[in-house]
Amino acid sequence: MLEGELKKLQKSLSRKVKFFKNWYKQKAKISKLHEHIKNCRRDFLHKLSKKLSKEHNAVVIEDLNMKGMSQALNFGKSVGDNGWGMFLRMLEYKLMFLGKQFLKIDKWFPSSKTCSKCGNVKEELKLSERSYKCECCGIEIDRDYNAALNIKNIGKEMLKY
Ligand SMILES: [Zn+2]
Repeated sequence: MLEGELKKLQKSLSRKVKFFKNWYKQKAKISKLHEHIKNCRRDFLHKLSKKLSKEHNAVVIEDLNMKGMSQALNFGKSVGDNGWGMFLRMLEYKLMFLGKQFLKIDKWFPSSKTCSKCGNVKEELKLSERSYKCECCGIEIDRDYNAALNIKNIGKEMLKY
């Protein structure tokens, strides 16, 4: 993997004497690889957003606070370069270009705590609970799938107006 190669190069850089010839050489290698990784990622996001915009008439997303999330989960660099934000912008302009809809749902909507079947809203849902069990209607489904269904339903409501 490219990330692994990057780590190796960085480790080797740390063993070189700063500001000497080999150190500069190693630095150049690293920045070249960085550029390559960035391009691969961007290319992947372009393909994915193109596919989604072609296959769907509307895309509904939850407007997550990615900065807060990356800090809370300590993703560090991987979210720091904000691939998610880039992906959303690509998706938005591709959908717009095709005359399709891109909808954002407020991040305060309790998409995880709401039952997608009966609409019951839980008081509490711990991050460790990977499935959603509804105490009202009895369904048990994957937590993220339940949230996605709620986002889809809200999106459908929004498209009615
Ligand atoms: Zn329910």
